Amino acid sequence: MCEHHHATRHILCTQCDLLVALPPLQHGHKAACPRCGTTLTTQWDEPRQRPTAYALVALFMLLLSNLFPFVNMKVAGVTSEVTLLEIPGVMFSEDYASLGTIFLLFVQLVPAFCLVTILLLVNRVRMSLRVKTFLARILFQLKTWGMAEIFLAGVLVSFVKLMAYGDVGIGSSFIPWCLFCLLQLRTMQCVDRHWLWDDISPAPLPAAPLRVGVTGIRQGLRSCPCCTAIVAANEPVCPRCHTRGYVRRRNSLQWTMALLVTSILLYLPANILPIMITDLLGDQMPSTILAGVILLWSEGSYPVALVIFIASIMVPTLKMIAIAWLCWDAKGHGRRDSERMHFIYEIVEFVGRWSMIDVFVIAVLSALVRMGGLMNIYPAMGALMFALVVIITMFAAMTFDPRLTWDREPESSHEES
Ligand SMILES: [Zn+2]
Ligand SMILES: [Zn+2]
Repeated sequence: MCEHHHATRHILCTQCDLLVALPPLQHGHKAACPRCGTTLTTQWDEPRQRPTAYALVALFMLLLSNLFPFVNMKVAGVTSEVTLLEIPGVMFSEDYASLGTIFLLFVQLVPAFCLVTILLLVNRVRMSLRVKTFLARILFQLKTWGMAEIFLAGVLVSFVKLMAYGDVGIGSSFIPWCLFCLLQLRTMQCVDRHWLWDDISPAPLPAAPLRVGVTGIRQGLRSCPCCTAIVAANEPVCPRCHTRGYVRRRNSLQWTMALLVTSILLYLPANILPIMITDLLGDQMPSTILAGVILLWSEGSYPVALVIFIASIMVPTLKMIAIAWLCWDAKGHGRRDSERMHFIYEIVEFVGRWSMIDVFVIAVLSALVRMGGLMNIYPAMGALMFALVVIITMFAAMTFDPRLTWDREPESSHEES
């Protein structure tokens, strides 16, 4: 008993608004948009068993990684050891509850929620349609906010930073955590949005005949931003998932610009204020993002210095410039090179979350380096500012409607006769 729903044969590309007829796909094959190259849908074999197996093992690994010590450090005979939950715990006890919450949410709660939701949905657990649509809506909105693997990268960077001071080691929870990161990524990858929504409830049938190779806006259609159903442009609420939507995201450019300006304003204090304070034998040394990079470089850890420089300084700066450029281009300026602008948009969407690395490094350092009178590390205001910059630029990229980039381009080359 494999597929008893009839899969939708057409899809409107969410990135460039082209109406594409899906070819019959073989197992493991993807359908990509002929205009912008975005993957529209992937046909997985065993679409239920595969994510179920991955998600179950991932959740078990998550449980294991919370039970035992995660990392430890030895300096001059003093040993410090932390579990995963102690890392946000330290932040809560030091008036950085906001950072602790961000940590708990992004690193543990969001991935765990997504895994449980996937288990419930792909296995068709008996729930009312309302609950199912509600869960699926949240699942696809939360997906980008799971940052387990970015935290893992942060842990590795902190190891390099700490090697100069003492012996760092991994605890019994570390390997389960690595497995959890891999498995949760794989689970998310195995669940196709288009397939899952068709499985929850069949897509509404469009009233007018569809014209393949023509954009939705030119035939009075829009793609539902949540469930990818093809809906009439003048229908404000999607009949399948009840998400509100419009032909183009409302006030997209205004929202993106407002969020961009906010993030630029926060970016200044994030770079000027110290992100952490190192207390070495009673000597308090505040350090900023740039100072951290310079220190790593002068110690000879060039690769790590580069990673932090790229993640914390280059990526946020370039991301802000890229978002501003996208808005400027979408307003009708520029060379009207949609393919190039689309490439920039995709990079911005992909790399944005990785800037969180430095925030996670500070989380690990301030939890692990508690050596009494010897050496202590505390988080500082700059870290919170920086976390906000990353979060707000992620929102800015989300509010930008990528279809605006393509709207000014003639599309005749894709039309089917
Ligand atoms: Zn496309
Ligand atoms: Zn919908």
